[in-house]
Amino acid sequence: LLRVRDVSVEFALPGRPAARVLDGIDLDVAAGSIRAVVGESGSGKSTLGRVVTGTLAGNGRLTSGEVVLGDRTLTGLSERQYRTVRGKEIGYIPQDALLGLNPLLPVGVQAGEPLRAHRLASRAERRERVVDLFAKVGLRDPARLYERYPHELSGGMCQRVLIAAAMSTRPKLLIADEPTTALDVTVQKTILDLLSGLVESEGLGILLITHDLGVAAERADDIAVVRDGRVVRGGRTGEVVADPGDPYTERLLRSSS
Ligand code: ATP
Ligand code: MG
Repeated sequence: LLRVRDVSVEFALPGRPAARVLDGIDLDVAAGSIRAVVGESGSGKSTLGRVVTGTLAGNGRLTSGEVVLGDRTLTGLSERQYRTVRGKEIGYIPQDALLGLNPLLPVGVQAGEPLRAHRLASRAERRERVVDLFAKVGLRDPARLYERYPHELSGGMCQRVLIAAAMSTRPKLLIADEPTTALDVTVQKTILDLLSGLVESEGLGILLITHDLGVAAERADDIAVVRDGRVVRGGRTGEVVADPGDPYTERLLRSSS
């Protein structure tokens, strides 16, 4: 479904040499599977998510590599073309998405925003789709919830709203950047169950970005361990966990939940 090949990224820094943050990243996500990207803070995980979604910061530059989704090469697309791909084919939950919820807008409206932004559905259709999705992501009383504001919801409920928003355009690929980090362990489990369920029911491919190798070990089919912008260990989850192969991966495994 997704192929990332030899991707390198540099960030321009004022008065200093550019910083190379990704260095020849290779990684695949198969349809109907979860690929976890694991690494310590600053290793480049979110940057990788942004490369795939075409949302790299203005001072960032792809210095090599390509990103292919299905049979379409995304690297080199214009900003406008990328927007369309992002709208229709990729669901994205950025790391700070919970903070990004608008306190002044009902959560139902926010969940339908990708559909509105890409003019994929009328107002009535959006509401219908979002209410359906709210039910699917396990939110109770979805029609009433549609009208509620973020501060009336728990963190776990907000995360479900964000998943619904990302799923609203029926993407084939979902990129979830630390979707459970701000949540307590019980809620973490229900959110991860939800994502696993979507892989089963929708045939979704998920790029699950997490600093927690324990979460990855439990949920992912495949893992890529990233250190300083390089994949230092990749493969089937069982193999990586059984044989971490290097001290960094071992350390991540020991420090995981
Ligand atoms: P965390 O687990 O803390 O979320 P991460 O693995 O997601 O970390 P990134 O956010 O991808 O890491 O950042 C990787 C490196 O790139 C860090 O050193 C960060 O400071 C740097 N970086 C990220 N964005 C920019 C930017 N726009 N300009 C300059 N440096 C950046
Ligand atoms: Mg990050």
